[in-house]
Amino acid sequence: MPDTLSTTPDWNTQLIHRYNIVGPRYTSYPTAPQLSDTFTELKLREALQQSNRNQTPLSLYFHIPFCDTVCYYCACNKIITANKNHARTYLQRLYKEMAMQSAIADSIYKETGSGRRIVEQLHWGGGTPTFLSDNQKRELMAQISNHFQLLYDDSGDYSIEVHPGRMNLETISVLRELGFNRLSMGVQDFDPQVQQSVNRFNSIEQVEKLITAARREQFHSISIDIIYGLPKQTLSSIKTTLAQIIALSPDRLSLFNYAHMPHLFKTQLQIDQSALPAPEEKLQMLHYAIETLCQAGYRYIGMDHFAKPSDSLVRAQQQGLLQRNFQGYSTHGNCDLLAFGVSAISSVGNSLVQNHKAIADYNRAIDKGELPLSRGLCLSDDDLLRKQVIMQLICQFRLDISALEGQYGVGFSDYFATEIMQLQQMVKDGLIKIDRREIQVLEPGKLLIRAICMVFDAYLGREVNPQPNNIKTASKKETKIRYSQVI
Ligand code: SF4
Repeated sequence: MPDTLSTTPDWNTQLIHRYNIVGPRYTSYPTAPQLSDTFTELKLREALQQSNRNQTPLSLYFHIPFCDTVCYYCACNKIITANKNHARTYLQRLYKEMAMQSAIADSIYKETGSGRRIVEQLHWGGGTPTFLSDNQKRELMAQISNHFQLLYDDSGDYSIEVHPGRMNLETISVLRELGFNRLSMGVQDFDPQVQQSVNRFNSIEQVEKLITAARREQFHSISIDIIYGLPKQTLSSIKTTLAQIIALSPDRLSLFNYAHMPHLFKTQLQIDQSALPAPEEKLQMLHYAIETLCQAGYRYIGMDHFAKPSDSLVRAQQQGLLQRNFQGYSTHGNCDLLAFGVSAISSVGNSLVQNHKAIADYNRAIDKGELPLSRGLCLSDDDLLRKQVIMQLICQFRLDISALEGQYGVGFSDYFATEIMQLQQMVKDGLIKIDRREIQVLEPGKLLIRAICMVFDAYLGREVNPQPNNIKTASKKETKIRYSQVI
């Protein structure tokens, strides 16, 4: 596989302005707004049964929606409460959901037979999974291992999101004892004024101690999330935060753009809009962050992800095995994803299925002994083809046209004649190169990869034409899911 990866993507302010388009983050294709409530449980059963026949390995996701404080920038599906009893009743329902779904997924380890459906990847997200007490974490993991065949030799990718300001140091060893070997920490910013303005607090000392403890416990990978564009943030303040983060030397970094959309996310109404940095300053922050992280030795994976050259994300990208899922860039694209809990989205074979987003609906379904499905989609042949195109471009910065034609039995130039016409401006602008065998994303196109992918998205139904300061507005339905622009 040719090395299409770069150490530092080219920065071109003019092109960034031109292609600064609101669009999906392509954590799936089709994206979640396309899921329909006509999807039935029967279709999920069929997808799971096919997945059984293929003996596809599993990736499991558990959504823990609780947080005991609210971060004002939050756009997640969460429940703010200090009452830990809520977690107790939620877990009971989660166990029932697991029992129902694992029974169909043929996932229970049979002592006498060979192991089935290995869980190669496990992730607890939220909300704040560390809202659970240590005993509740132990209980949840014990339930998971009752229903699924976990790997006990530390060879799986088992990760958890933690809020570094809201957890005890001792919890690190509990997480390791439970089998987690990857930590994802939402730091966002170390500046006290910024933390105050978004109501999220974690000191550098807290994060440092947690990282030291995690290294002592031999976690395989530590990931840190940072957000740019928060209120009170300046180029100078983000320079300091980045220097502090680089000194902590996480294995992976995610650099997210804060999109202020209080009409969609009520929590954001608490943010003082006048304290938000101007778009030009955000652009400077992003430019500085990309250059600084790459100079510090991180590889630019794509979109908003960076990783050390030794990290498995970089290896997966070099080997053409990188995927995007609902957690962003990820390894283990060979797995079927089973997701549990309120609002969680599963991806099984060619189906996407989402649980109820409202906790009352989720509870009601479980209490009636039903799977808490709310919406879903069986991917059509066209969806599958476009998914392959978009995922290859976004993960590898390259599309192997010859291989795609062989796999799907289509003539690329006929099937995508309209799209190829639309891409011509991007060719002229030096974002991509197209020939008969491949599309190659060039250095200036890497930061604009979303705009390139959008050309192949059949659901957007619009041209991605460059215009000065083109910021197209997504429909309300589209905007409900995490959309972003460069700035
Ligand atoms: S950002 Fe995370 S911790 Fe903060 S309120 Fe949202 S889900 Fe909870």
